[in-house]
Amino acid sequence: MTKRVVLIGHPVAHSLSGAMHQAAFDELGIDAAYELWDRSPIQLADAVTELRTDAFLGANVTIPHKERVVPMVDRLTEEAHATGAANTITREGRRLIGHNTDVPGFRVALDTLVGRQKMPRQAVVLGAGGGARAVVLGLITEGFQRIVVFNRHLHRAEGMVKHFARSAAHMELRAMPWHESIIEAELAKTKVLVNATSIGLTSDESPVPADILHGELLVLDLIYSRTRLLRDAAAAGCTTLDGELMLLHQGAAAFTLWTGQPAPLELMQTKLAEARAGGLRSAEGEPAGPEPTGPEPTAVSGS
Ligand code: NDP
Repeated sequence: MTKRVVLIGHPVAHSLSGAMHQAAFDELGIDAAYELWDRSPIQLADAVTELRTDAFLGANVTIPHKERVVPMVDRLTEEAHATGAANTITREGRRLIGHNTDVPGFRVALDTLVGRQKMPRQAVVLGAGGGARAVVLGLITEGFQRIVVFNRHLHRAEGMVKHFARSAAHMELRAMPWHESIIEAELAKTKVLVNATSIGLTSDESPVPADILHGELLVLDLIYSRTRLLRDAAAAGCTTLDGELMLLHQGAAAFTLWTGQPAPLELMQTKLAEARAGGLRSAEGEPAGPEPTGPEPTAVSGS
Protein backbone atom coordinates (compact mmCIF):
# COMPACT_ATOMS: atom_id res chain seq x y z
CA MET A 1 0.00 0.00 0.00
CA THR A 2 1.32 3.43 -0.91
CA LYS A 3 2.39 5.24 2.27
CA ARG A 4 1.43 8.84 2.77
CA VAL A 5 3.55 11.84 3.78
CA VAL A 6 1.77 15.17 4.10
CA LEU A 7 2.76 18.82 4.26
CA ILE A 8 0.42 20.61 6.65
CA GLY A 9 0.32 24.38 6.25
CA HIS A 10 -1.89 27.28 5.35
CA PRO A 11 -1.62 28.05 2.50
CA VAL A 12 0.19 25.22 0.71
CA ALA A 13 -1.03 25.77 -2.83
CA HIS A 14 2.23 24.79 -4.53
CA SER A 15 5.23 23.37 -2.79
CA LEU A 16 8.97 23.16 -3.30
CA SER A 17 9.02 20.43 -0.65
CA GLY A 18 6.61 18.34 -2.71
CA ALA A 19 8.82 18.58 -5.77
CA MET A 20 11.95 17.36 -3.98
CA HIS A 21 10.37 14.68 -1.77
CA GLN A 22 8.25 12.97 -4.41
CA ALA A 23 11.25 12.76 -6.73
CA ALA A 24 13.34 11.32 -3.88
CA PHE A 25 10.73 8.65 -3.02
CA ASP A 26 10.48 7.66 -6.69
CA GLU A 27 14.27 7.56 -7.18
CA LEU A 28 14.76 5.21 -4.22
CA GLY A 29 11.77 3.02 -5.13
CA ILE A 30 9.92 3.97 -1.93
CA ASP A 31 6.18 3.51 -2.41
CA ALA A 32 5.09 6.81 -0.90
CA ALA A 33 3.12 9.87 -2.00
CA TYR A 34 3.73 13.43 -0.76
CA GLU A 35 0.44 15.28 -0.32
CA LEU A 36 -0.35 18.90 0.42
CA TRP A 37 -2.83 19.53 3.20
CA ASP A 38 -4.05 23.09 3.45
CA ARG A 39 -5.43 23.24 7.01
CA SER A 40 -6.42 26.32 8.94
CA PRO A 41 -5.32 26.60 12.60
CA ILE A 42 -8.70 25.35 13.76
CA GLN A 43 -8.32 22.19 11.60
CA LEU A 44 -4.77 21.43 12.76
CA ALA A 45 -5.54 19.12 15.71
CA ASP A 46 -7.75 16.86 13.56
CA ALA A 47 -5.11 16.75 10.84
CA VAL A 48 -2.44 15.70 13.36
CA THR A 49 -4.73 13.00 14.82
CA GLU A 50 -5.15 11.52 11.33
CA LEU A 51 -1.40 10.87 11.14
CA ARG A 52 -1.54 8.23 13.89
CA THR A 53 -2.32 5.32 11.57
CA ASP A 54 -0.15 2.92 9.56
CA ALA A 55 -1.06 4.70 6.35
CA PHE A 56 1.38 7.53 7.17
CA LEU A 57 5.18 7.71 7.27
CA GLY A 58 4.93 11.18 8.75
CA ALA A 59 4.52 14.83 7.89
CA ASN A 60 6.09 18.22 7.33
CA VAL A 61 4.60 21.18 9.15
CA THR A 62 4.96 24.71 7.88
CA ILE A 63 3.68 28.30 8.21
CA PRO A 64 1.70 29.05 10.32
CA HIS A 65 1.64 25.81 12.36
CA LYS A 66 5.24 25.03 13.43
CA GLU A 67 4.81 26.35 16.96
CA ARG A 68 1.12 25.46 17.34
CA VAL A 69 1.75 21.78 16.56
CA VAL A 70 4.19 21.30 19.48
CA PRO A 71 1.62 20.36 22.17
CA MET A 72 -0.20 18.07 19.71
CA VAL A 73 2.59 15.46 19.42
CA ASP A 74 3.62 12.91 22.06
CA ARG A 75 7.35 13.58 22.20
CA LEU A 76 9.74 16.26 20.99
CA THR A 77 13.36 15.82 20.00
CA GLU A 78 15.87 18.06 21.74
CA GLU A 79 15.90 20.57 18.86
CA ALA A 80 12.11 20.75 18.63
CA HIS A 81 11.91 21.15 22.39
CA ALA A 82 14.63 23.82 22.49
CA THR A 83 13.09 25.86 19.65
CA GLY A 84 9.48 25.28 20.66
CA ALA A 85 8.77 24.56 16.98
CA ALA A 86 8.44 21.39 14.90
CA ASN A 87 8.63 21.15 11.10
CA THR A 88 8.71 17.35 10.80
CA ILE A 89 6.63 14.58 12.39
CA THR A 90 7.46 10.88 12.48
CA ARG A 91 5.37 8.02 13.84
CA GLU A 92 6.25 5.26 16.32
CA GLY A 93 3.15 3.09 16.38
CA ARG A 94 0.37 5.50 17.30
CA ARG A 95 2.78 7.93 18.95
CA LEU A 96 3.92 11.04 17.08
CA ILE A 97 7.40 12.53 17.42
CA GLY A 98 8.07 16.21 16.63
CA HIS A 99 11.45 17.15 15.09
CA ASN A 100 12.98 20.43 13.96
CA THR A 101 15.11 19.77 10.88
CA ASP A 102 15.33 23.52 10.13
CA VAL A 103 18.10 23.57 12.76
CA PRO A 104 20.51 21.18 10.96
CA GLY A 105 19.44 22.79 7.66
CA PHE A 106 20.47 26.20 9.00
CA ARG A 107 23.81 24.84 10.26
CA VAL A 108 24.75 23.63 6.78
CA ALA A 109 23.84 27.05 5.34
CA LEU A 110 25.84 28.89 8.01
CA ASP A 111 28.92 26.69 7.50
CA THR A 112 28.73 27.27 3.75
CA LEU A 113 28.30 31.02 4.18
CA VAL A 114 31.27 31.31 6.54
CA GLY A 115 33.42 29.00 4.41
CA ARG A 116 37.08 28.92 5.41
CA GLN A 117 36.86 32.01 7.61
CA LYS A 118 36.88 31.73 11.38
CA MET A 119 33.31 31.24 12.67
CA PRO A 120 32.13 34.71 13.80
CA ARG A 121 30.74 35.18 17.32
CA GLN A 122 28.17 37.97 16.79
CA ALA A 123 25.01 37.96 14.70
CA VAL A 124 21.97 40.06 13.92
CA VAL A 125 18.76 38.13 13.24
CA LEU A 126 15.75 39.80 11.63
CA GLY A 127 12.47 38.06 12.53
CA ALA A 128 11.07 36.07 15.45
CA GLY A 129 8.90 33.38 13.83
CA GLY A 130 9.47 29.64 13.53
CA GLY A 131 12.38 30.07 11.11
CA ALA A 132 14.11 32.57 13.40
CA ARG A 133 13.87 30.12 16.31
CA ALA A 134 15.82 27.52 14.31
CA VAL A 135 18.37 30.19 13.37
CA VAL A 136 18.86 31.35 16.95
CA LEU A 137 19.28 27.80 18.29
CA GLY A 138 21.74 27.06 15.47
CA LEU A 139 23.78 30.17 16.33
CA ILE A 140 23.75 29.43 20.08
CA THR A 141 24.91 25.85 19.58
CA GLU A 142 27.55 27.05 17.09
CA GLY A 143 29.11 29.09 19.91
CA PHE A 144 27.96 32.62 19.05
CA GLN A 145 28.45 34.93 22.03
CA ARG A 146 26.13 37.80 21.08
CA ILE A 147 22.90 37.58 19.08
CA VAL A 148 20.58 40.54 18.63
CA VAL A 149 17.05 39.87 17.36
CA PHE A 150 14.95 42.58 15.69
CA ASN A 151 11.28 42.02 14.98
CA ARG A 152 8.41 44.22 13.81
CA HIS A 153 6.40 43.19 16.87
CA LEU A 154 8.98 43.52 19.64
CA HIS A 155 6.98 41.41 22.11
CA ARG A 156 7.39 38.35 19.85
CA ALA A 157 11.19 38.79 19.82
CA GLU A 158 11.13 39.25 23.59
CA GLY A 159 9.08 36.06 23.95
CA MET A 160 11.64 34.20 21.87
CA VAL A 161 14.55 35.51 23.94
CA LYS A 162 12.73 34.42 27.08
CA HIS A 163 12.11 31.00 25.56
CA PHE A 164 15.87 30.56 25.00
CA ALA A 165 16.84 31.88 28.45
CA ARG A 166 18.29 28.57 29.59
CA SER A 167 20.07 27.60 26.33
CA ALA A 168 21.51 31.14 26.12
CA ALA A 169 22.48 31.54 29.79
CA HIS A 170 26.21 31.62 28.92
CA MET A 171 25.94 34.31 26.22
CA GLU A 172 24.14 37.52 25.32
CA LEU A 173 20.82 37.12 23.48
CA ARG A 174 18.82 40.34 23.18
CA ALA A 175 15.61 41.55 21.56
CA MET A 176 15.67 45.13 20.25
CA PRO A 177 13.04 47.40 18.73
CA TRP A 178 12.95 47.64 14.95
CA HIS A 179 14.51 51.08 14.35
CA GLU A 180 16.83 51.60 11.41
CA SER A 181 19.38 53.51 13.52
CA ILE A 182 19.57 50.70 16.09
CA ILE A 183 19.86 48.03 13.39
CA GLU A 184 22.61 50.09 11.72
CA ALA A 185 24.54 50.43 15.01
CA GLU A 186 24.30 46.67 15.64
CA LEU A 187 25.32 45.78 12.08
CA ALA A 188 28.44 47.92 12.47
CA LYS A 189 29.57 45.56 15.27
CA THR A 190 28.45 42.37 13.54
CA LYS A 191 29.73 39.95 10.92
CA VAL A 192 26.62 37.81 10.32
CA LEU A 193 23.16 39.04 9.25
CA VAL A 194 20.29 36.57 8.86
CA ASN A 195 16.92 37.56 7.42
CA ALA A 196 14.29 35.26 8.93
CA THR A 197 11.37 37.56 8.13
CA SER A 198 9.20 36.97 5.09
CA ILE A 199 9.98 40.46 3.76
CA GLY A 200 11.08 39.92 0.16
CA LEU A 201 9.10 36.71 -0.33
CA THR A 202 6.20 38.13 -2.31
CA SER A 203 7.45 41.64 -3.05
CA ASP A 204 10.75 43.14 -4.15
CA GLU A 205 11.40 44.78 -0.78
CA SER A 206 14.33 44.56 1.64
CA PRO A 207 13.97 44.54 5.43
CA VAL A 208 16.83 47.07 5.74
CA PRO A 209 18.04 50.04 3.68
CA ALA A 210 20.95 49.23 1.36
CA ASP A 211 23.22 51.93 2.81
CA ILE A 212 23.50 50.28 6.24
CA LEU A 213 25.06 47.10 4.80
CA HIS A 214 28.85 47.06 5.07
CA GLY A 215 31.12 44.90 2.93
CA GLU A 216 32.39 42.72 5.79
CA LEU A 217 28.94 41.20 6.35
CA LEU A 218 28.02 37.59 5.65
CA VAL A 219 24.33 37.75 4.73
CA LEU A 220 21.94 34.79 4.72
CA ASP A 221 18.35 35.23 3.58
CA LEU A 222 16.13 32.26 4.49
CA ILE A 223 13.97 33.05 1.48
CA TYR A 224 14.78 30.74 -1.40
CA SER A 225 15.31 33.48 -3.95
CA ARG A 226 17.64 36.27 -5.07
CA THR A 227 15.90 38.82 -2.85
CA ARG A 228 16.45 42.57 -2.84
CA LEU A 229 18.37 42.18 0.43
CA LEU A 230 20.80 39.76 -1.21
CA ARG A 231 21.19 41.97 -4.27
CA ASP A 232 21.83 45.06 -2.11
CA ALA A 233 24.26 43.10 0.04
CA ALA A 234 26.14 41.80 -3.00
CA ALA A 235 26.37 45.35 -4.36
CA ALA A 236 27.87 46.44 -1.00
CA GLY A 237 30.54 43.71 -1.29
CA CYS A 238 29.03 41.26 1.23
CA THR A 239 29.15 37.49 0.89
CA THR A 240 25.58 36.22 0.42
CA LEU A 241 23.57 33.03 0.44
CA ASP A 242 19.87 32.38 -0.11
CA GLY A 243 17.65 29.81 1.63
CA GLU A 244 18.09 26.98 -0.86
CA LEU A 245 20.71 25.02 1.08
CA MET A 246 18.74 25.27 4.32
CA LEU A 247 15.58 24.12 2.56
CA LEU A 248 17.43 21.26 0.87
CA HIS A 249 19.08 20.04 4.06
CA GLN A 250 16.01 20.35 6.28
CA GLY A 251 14.22 18.29 3.61
CA ALA A 252 17.02 15.73 3.43
CA ALA A 253 16.98 15.30 7.21
CA ALA A 254 13.19 14.84 7.18
CA PHE A 255 13.45 12.31 4.34
CA THR A 256 15.92 10.22 6.35
CA LEU A 257 13.71 10.38 9.45
CA TRP A 258 10.68 9.04 7.52
CA THR A 259 12.48 6.41 5.43
CA GLY A 260 15.65 5.49 7.33
CA GLN A 261 17.60 6.08 4.11
CA PRO A 262 20.11 8.76 3.06
CA ALA A 263 18.43 11.40 0.91
CA PRO A 264 19.40 11.70 -2.77
CA LEU A 265 20.69 15.26 -2.31
CA GLU A 266 21.71 15.97 -5.89
CA LEU A 267 18.34 14.94 -7.27
CA MET A 268 16.50 16.94 -4.60
CA GLN A 269 18.59 20.02 -5.42
CA THR A 270 17.83 19.63 -9.13
CA LYS A 271 14.11 19.40 -8.37
CA LEU A 272 14.31 22.52 -6.21
CA ALA A 273 16.06 24.37 -9.03
CA GLU A 274 13.36 23.28 -11.49
CA ALA A 275 10.58 24.40 -9.14
CA ARG A 276 12.40 27.69 -8.62
CA ALA A 277 12.58 28.20 -12.38
CA GLY A 278 8.81 27.73 -12.29
CA GLY A 279 8.50 30.73 -9.96
CA LEU A 280 8.25 29.16 -6.47
CA ARG A 281 10.27 30.76 -3.67
CA SER A 282 9.35 29.02 -0.44
CA ALA A 283 8.66 25.62 1.02
CA GLU A 284 5.11 26.79 1.54
CA GLY A 285 4.86 27.56 -2.14
CA GLU A 286 3.49 31.05 -2.32
CA PRO A 287 3.30 31.62 -6.08
CA ALA A 288 5.78 34.48 -5.98
CA GLY A 289 6.07 35.24 -9.69
CA PRO A 290 9.24 35.61 -11.72
CA GLU A 291 12.50 36.32 -9.93
CA PRO A 292 13.52 39.97 -9.95
CA THR A 293 16.37 41.03 -12.18
CA GLY A 294 19.46 42.91 -11.00
CA PRO A 295 23.15 42.41 -10.26
CA GLU A 296 24.14 38.83 -9.53
CA PRO A 297 25.06 38.43 -5.83
CA THR A 298 28.54 37.11 -5.02
CA ALA A 299 26.89 34.02 -3.60
CA VAL A 300 29.04 31.34 -2.06
CA SER A 301 28.78 27.93 -3.62
CA GLY A 302 25.64 26.10 -2.53
CA SER A 303 26.79 22.52 -2.87
P1 NDP B 1 6.53 33.16 10.53
O1 NDP B 1 5.20 33.49 9.93
O2 NDP B 1 6.61 32.32 11.74
O3 NDP B 1 7.32 34.54 10.83
C1 NDP B 1 7.33 35.59 9.88
C2 NDP B 1 8.32 36.65 10.33
O4 NDP B 1 8.37 37.68 9.33
C3 NDP B 1 7.95 37.33 11.64
O5 NDP B 1 9.13 37.71 12.31
C4 NDP B 1 7.17 38.57 11.15
O6 NDP B 1 7.19 39.64 12.06
C5 NDP B 1 8.00 38.94 9.95
N1 NDP B 1 7.27 39.75 8.98
C6 NDP B 1 6.35 39.30 8.08
N2 NDP B 1 5.90 40.34 7.34
C7 NDP B 1 6.55 41.46 7.79
C8 NDP B 1 6.51 42.82 7.41
N3 NDP B 1 5.72 43.26 6.42
N4 NDP B 1 7.31 43.69 8.07
C9 NDP B 1 8.13 43.25 9.08
N5 NDP B 1 8.19 41.97 9.47
C10 NDP B 1 7.41 41.07 8.84
O7 NDP B 1 7.38 32.50 9.35
P2 NDP B 1 8.71 31.62 9.40
O8 NDP B 1 9.58 32.09 10.50
O9 NDP B 1 8.38 30.18 9.36
O10 NDP B 1 9.36 31.99 7.97
C11 NDP B 1 9.94 33.26 7.75
C12 NDP B 1 10.62 33.24 6.38
O11 NDP B 1 11.69 32.29 6.40
C13 NDP B 1 9.68 32.82 5.24
O12 NDP B 1 10.01 33.59 4.11
C14 NDP B 1 10.03 31.35 5.02
O13 NDP B 1 9.80 30.96 3.69
C15 NDP B 1 11.53 31.35 5.33
N6 NDP B 1 11.99 30.04 5.81
C16 NDP B 1 12.90 29.37 5.03
C17 NDP B 1 13.39 28.15 5.43
C18 NDP B 1 14.38 27.45 4.57
O14 NDP B 1 14.55 26.24 4.75
N7 NDP B 1 15.04 28.14 3.67
C19 NDP B 1 12.95 27.53 6.71
C20 NDP B 1 12.02 28.33 7.49
C21 NDP B 1 11.56 29.55 7.03
P3 NDP B 1 5.98 39.78 13.16
O15 NDP B 1 6.28 38.75 14.22
O16 NDP B 1 6.16 41.18 13.67
O17 NDP B 1 4.71 39.55 12.44
